[in-house]
Amino acid sequence: MTLPLYGTASHSAGFCSDKARSVVRLRAVESSAERHAADFALARTSVEVLRAIEANWPSIFVVSDGSIDLPSTFDGRLVAVPLKYNYLGDGDVLGFDHSSKKFRTLFRRNSAHNSFLITERCNNYCLMCSQPPKDVDDRWILSEIKESLPLIDPATRALTFTGGETLSDCEDFIAVLTECRDRLPTTAIQVLTNGRAFANSEIVDAWKAIGHPNLMAAIPVYASVDHVHDHVVQAKGAFDETVLGILKLKDRGQRVEIRVVLHALTAPIIEETGRWIARNLPFVDHVALMGLENTGFAIANDAMLWMDPMDYSDGLAKAVDYLSAAGVNVSVYNLPKCVLPKSVWPHAVQSISDWKNGFVDECNRCDEKNNCSGFFTTGRPRFSRGVRAISSPHHEFDSRGLASTASGE
Ligand code: SF4
Repeated sequence: MTLPLYGTASHSAGFCSDKARSVVRLRAVESSAERHAADFALARTSVEVLRAIEANWPSIFVVSDGSIDLPSTFDGRLVAVPLKYNYLGDGDVLGFDHSSKKFRTLFRRNSAHNSFLITERCNNYCLMCSQPPKDVDDRWILSEIKESLPLIDPATRALTFTGGETLSDCEDFIAVLTECRDRLPTTAIQVLTNGRAFANSEIVDAWKAIGHPNLMAAIPVYASVDHVHDHVVQAKGAFDETVLGILKLKDRGQRVEIRVVLHALTAPIIEETGRWIARNLPFVDHVALMGLENTGFAIANDAMLWMDPMDYSDGLAKAVDYLSAAGVNVSVYNLPKCVLPKSVWPHAVQSISDWKNGFVDECNRCDEKNNCSGFFTTGRPRFSRGVRAISSPHHEFDSRGLASTASGE
């Protein structure tokens, strides 16, 4: 099931008209934490609404499909959303548009998978982009994020910034990261970027100057062959800029992850790409070899991109071997265990964000379900012909090292 992270409020009241949007933080009615102007008491029943009013909450956020009984004396801010947003909890942060009543969940305190979209603009146009670029003025998003940062639990373990190209408005975004350094110094900050901006030494120097103790740039290099990478991102010269950017970041001691998304244009040469990274960029901090999320442009380009992971598993295993042998920290993301050679299992990570992660019926019989990435629920999911439940006590491996169909046949 995909968690609904945005929607339209069924009711709202009390918002001033001198501002188009507000950032809202939800608080348990009985919370004793210091109240911020953005805080709303979170109520799910009429009784909780009355308790919030008794506790002098000036703003109330109701999650309910029922009618809301508010005393006529209440003149504070109110937002009501349908029950399907019942996952919302204490400490969560939302962006709310006053006139349209549209809202987006920006941060879920109990999730390990929080990401902020920085912009929909990008100077790449990747064939499998899950967030197809739009040439729009969406700089208000950065302002919303700046407003959100003071509301985020400082104990948050990890936060991702994504796009579009996150460095599109470089100066403003670096200011956001600098604020993360001050407000969230123990949070692991990951920035998804195409890396081309780092070909500019001034930008790399500004990045270094942020000085966040746990900041990582996650940069895609889709192939060891320049024209393949440039074709995938639909931008001539992108490979050269991206690799130059990675070299400049590492030259300045910055943390870099290389990401390779596996599909029919990149997976057939993943062995060569893995070997090339191992030989030329062994100093990067992490390499993620990633199964494709079949959404966005990937759906439109499905005929060009889909490749069953069973058909590239040998090359993937060799790429992992090359990288491991070179001492590179390598992970495999988004691919279920049953389609991976056994040698790859120690590198397979449960990487799919909780709000878009699911399993199929076959998985209910599988002993590895708790250690498996499962599948994306977004877009139009594609399933490998190799998906079979694994039975731990009996599972065997064939000559290629692939998990056998222990209980599936
Ligand atoms: S069958 Fe098991 S290994 Fe395969 S996708 Fe389902 S849980 Fe994962």
